[in-house]
Amino acid sequence: MLDTLFQNADILTMDDARPSIKGGFVGVKNGKIVDVGQDRPLEDAKRTIDCAKKVLMPGLINTHAHTAMCVMRGYADDYTLQEWLFDKVFPVEARLDERAVVAGARLGFAEMLRTGTTSVSDMYYHQTAVAELALAAGIRASLCNAALALGGFDPENDRSMLETRGLIADFHGAGNGRIKADVSLHAEYTSPPEVWRYVAELGKKHGLNMHVHLSETKKEHDDCVARCGKTPARRFAENGVFDLKTIAAHCVWVSGDDMELLAKYGVSCAHNPVSNLKLASGVAPVREMLARGVNVSLGTDGCCSNNTHDLFEEIKLAALLAKGTSLDPTAMPAYEALKLATVNGARAQGRENEVGRIAEGMEADIILVDLDSPMTRPFYSPESAVVFSATGERVCLTMVQGKVLYENGEFATIDIERAYDEVERYAVKLVLG
Ligand SMILES: [Zn+2]
Repeated sequence: MLDTLFQNADILTMDDARPSIKGGFVGVKNGKIVDVGQDRPLEDAKRTIDCAKKVLMPGLINTHAHTAMCVMRGYADDYTLQEWLFDKVFPVEARLDERAVVAGARLGFAEMLRTGTTSVSDMYYHQTAVAELALAAGIRASLCNAALALGGFDPENDRSMLETRGLIADFHGAGNGRIKADVSLHAEYTSPPEVWRYVAELGKKHGLNMHVHLSETKKEHDDCVARCGKTPARRFAENGVFDLKTIAAHCVWVSGDDMELLAKYGVSCAHNPVSNLKLASGVAPVREMLARGVNVSLGTDGCCSNNTHDLFEEIKLAALLAKGTSLDPTAMPAYEALKLATVNGARAQGRENEVGRIAEGMEADIILVDLDSPMTRPFYSPESAVVFSATGERVCLTMVQGKVLYENGEFATIDIERAYDEVERYAVKLVLG
């Protein structure tokens, strides 16, 4: 007996062998996809969901977020990067306690599930509490607390190391592999090489992935070259950081040589187009990276520089920027843009055999995009409708590991009123100081 049968669905499999199936079936059992095709499976199902006028596709994968920062959504919009970071973000973050961070993460996870994101790579703090929340909310999450060591580093007492060890001990692999611990370095300019080597060793010992910020701003990249005669990517590579499977967020200012390095070490670039434009950091050379064999995925970054977790925006903008900066409208077709948020995201997280495609044996992380709206009718191809017409609010059902977590306005695992209350009555007070 199947647990769930989706029928009559326009399926975007993101499987190059058969990218789309019209009016097809997807069977789900024990959290996995067990049947995909044109024909109705022989087994009966406990629940059958009709998908007329809906696209069925893999859940989206957000490979760079600071989820709890959504408590600062719209708090600091139009500042220079320096003012934004030092006068706005850092002072607020010094005031946020565990309750406020968990409140932000709860609202952020709700927003992600609401807009079709099923898996997130999250870099923030109070991560063991956030891991517990993610486990209960049902979302797939790779969590890290980035090492930041401007004034010395004591590995036994450093907060990011304590939290990382807590994640490893209590949460790595929890929820049938849904929750993972990553190791993380905030950036090249916020810690010295001995910290990088320590963190990389810790990650290696436990078989973890690495998550860093890389060459986000021109100043950060150029300062590093002026200081050391080498780029941030080169320095990380020389100190063993890229020996781990790595997500490098931004990569806006990477050089041609850097791109070769990223490709050689299998480093994934998490492209955050909205954040990079909003903070006026620039536009990452996505086409060049893809052409050189770098895996490029998508992220939203924090909600104080975005201001949503709606990956549909990032997908569309990634396509538009690739076209607009190359003066070539064929530079990134819809299907290629969708790959950034699905198969490439799964590869970035080291989850390419778990999620990112609708195929037999994969975990059942599935979304339905309802195209029955003035925004999305008529539609000629599902990928065009999803990439260029839809927003995340067209998502009507989100499933992770075979469990429906959001459907038609209802959250199965998150008390949305409590999420609003905790943010607006508690966290916002700390934001405003
Ligand atoms: Zn970031």
